[in-house]
Amino acid sequence: MTKVYTIASGKGGTGKTMTTVNLGTSLAMLGKRTIVLDADIGMANLGLVLGLEKSKITLHEVLAGKADISQAVYELPTGLKVVPSGISLQGFQNADPDRLQFVMSKLVADADYILIDAPAGISKDGVIPLAIADEVLLVVNPELSSMADAVKTKVLTEMVGGAIGGIILNRASAEKTELTAQKIGDIMGVKVLEVIPEDPSVRRAAAFKTPVVVKYPDSSAAIAYRRLAGKIAGSK
Ligand code: ADP
Ligand code: MG
Repeated sequence: MTKVYTIASGKGGTGKTMTTVNLGTSLAMLGKRTIVLDADIGMANLGLVLGLEKSKITLHEVLAGKADISQAVYELPTGLKVVPSGISLQGFQNADPDRLQFVMSKLVADADYILIDAPAGISKDGVIPLAIADEVLLVVNPELSSMADAVKTKVLTEMVGGAIGGIILNRASAEKTELTAQKIGDIMGVKVLEVIPEDPSVRRAAAFKTPVVVKYPDSSAAIAYRRLAGKIAGSK
């Protein structure tokens, strides 16, 4: 059975795209058939961080009814399959987020895992990915504002009939003032699946349009992302 995860958070910049890319790549490198899909159709950058920004056919065209989803799937050397979104505003306007569920139904035959990179915010294109996943993974940074936004996303997910699978605490450092994984998990009533440290290798790898788990496999973030993938693959 295919398992569909949506990677979400309240606001932008928490690390949803990096988590999607690195968890997806790690699952692919474990031999799992994995597809990552950029549902952030307004501010797409999944394709950009994977060097697929020149793709002619993207989720925009598929959601506009102008192309079949099979034409928008690109395979990388790691085996990871990617459905990028387009970057034009026009493309965003023509894309109908209501088609996403149908599009997903056509992908499940070819995947063990589908990871949906969700947009920030609570507009329609942001809410649909929360409803159609088997589990929503909340990317939270160790600060109050990030947790408050994640709580909102959790409530919204439950309102639309979705299920929360856990928290990924991203950009953690050893700073005394920051919220611990334990505290965040307790307050939110959600299990923290993994802690990804603040690690400059993440950004450095992105500059090479390569996931950190490929470019700097020994970095602390890469190790944490692989551990998360191992847990997810082991729990199915
Ligand atoms: P989102 O998709 O939630 O908007 P991104 O994944 O694009 O967020 O990440 C936002 C920024 O934070 C990027 O510049 C990214 O390189 C950086 N970043 C994400 N995770 C980490 C991390 N663990 N350590 C250091 N920088 C990170
Ligand atoms: Mg993003």
